Amino acid sequence: MSTDLAFDRQHIWHPYTSMLNPLPVYPVAAAEGCTLILEDGRRLIDGTASWWSAVHGYNHPVLNAAVTEQLAKMAHVMFGGITHAPAVQLCQQLLSMVPAPLSKVFLADSGSIAVEVAIKMALQYWQASDTPQKTKLISLRKGYHGDTFAAMAVCDPTDSMHSMFSELLPQHFFLPAPACPFDQPFIAECMAPLETLLAAEHQHIAALILEPIVQGYGGMRFYHPEYLRRARALCNQYKVLLIADEIATGFGRTGKLFACEHADIAPDIMCVGKALSGGYLTLAATLCTDEVARGISKSAAGGLMHGPTFMANPLACAVALASLKLIAQNDWQQQVAAIAQQLNTELAAAKHFAKVKEVRVLGAIGVFEMHQPVDVALLQAQFVELGVWIRPFNHLIYVMPPFTISAQELSKLTAAMLTVAA
Ligand SMILES: *Cc1c(COP(=O)(O)O)cnc(C)c1O
Repeated sequence: MSTDLAFDRQHIWHPYTSMLNPLPVYPVAAAEGCTLILEDGRRLIDGTASWWSAVHGYNHPVLNAAVTEQLAKMAHVMFGGITHAPAVQLCQQLLSMVPAPLSKVFLADSGSIAVEVAIKMALQYWQASDTPQKTKLISLRKGYHGDTFAAMAVCDPTDSMHSMFSELLPQHFFLPAPACPFDQPFIAECMAPLETLLAAEHQHIAALILEPIVQGYGGMRFYHPEYLRRARALCNQYKVLLIADEIATGFGRTGKLFACEHADIAPDIMCVGKALSGGYLTLAATLCTDEVARGISKSAAGGLMHGPTFMANPLACAVALASLKLIAQNDWQQQVAAIAQQLNTELAAAKHFAKVKEVRVLGAIGVFEMHQPVDVALLQAQFVELGVWIRPFNHLIYVMPPFTISAQELSKLTAAMLTVAA
């Protein structure tokens, strides 16, 4: 049976689209490996990993088995006053992978909520440490941290759609986006805005929140690890917590298990999501150090004030545990390094295209930044004609495929990118 597209168009919102004049949508009947299968039988090679999440591809036998085995036991049970093996085993696995000082895990239901929880942790920590005046956050321009209100308040204040709510949002401090590209000599002056702001305002600042190394939806920008290293040192110097939003970058995407490792630093609080469940179910987590957790428990409330209904959903935990084990087994470093090398080789031709401003590759991420904003509906249709699923936005045409993609499938993606950008 084919999907009722007229009903979809009249009654169902899709991400960031108008209900009155929505962009076209493509009905997907099934997905397997790195292929999406449309209802009309066309097969598209996936360049998106469903927004960074499906790192092992679709319909994976090991992940399917993890869900069905857990389903036969229980789909869900509340987490208040109860615990269960999927949650405990997932957190053990997660803590064995993240930077060492992180030792406590809050299981959240989506990336945006993980960011909300991270902000709450930082604010509760300072409240309990007799410095309740530390209520402001510092964020970077071109940053993206999610769509809920506290998360929106730390997204780029002018470039994002969130600017329309600015009067309703808590006012935080914004720094220029790091002007020090990943692969060029470090420019020490790019630290000056952070140093100046911390020196002047540190008594009011609870935390610096940033996406380590890769600023994703704010522009797919890759900045220098030295920026992150020095930001960590400045946070220590001025007693400000560092929140690393690894929701897009976590679990190998940038060539390190976590992007913080490019700079050999550990944050005080870290958010993960997207690839955490291998793209199967909505799950995220906020991790913190012993120090932050101890501080929060001294607060008047005594606990961390958050607890969603579907916290630690057993199905999501079971599949996330299986996905994290697969990452370890599959030799993700080899997979990501091979993708990076192929992207570098095959996308380089676009450096000479008149419409392309810059070609960037880091780990399993390949980006064309265009001079002009792209026509999303038009390019999307062209990509489907070419047999690939790539979703451009603003000035960007980019891929972040499943790590399991074959060289042949990846060549199909890069060839399609070159065709539409030429
Ligand atoms: C996607 C993303 C989020 C939000 O996650 P959701 O699961 O969509 O709420 C937050 N931060 C970063 C860096 C992201 O890429």
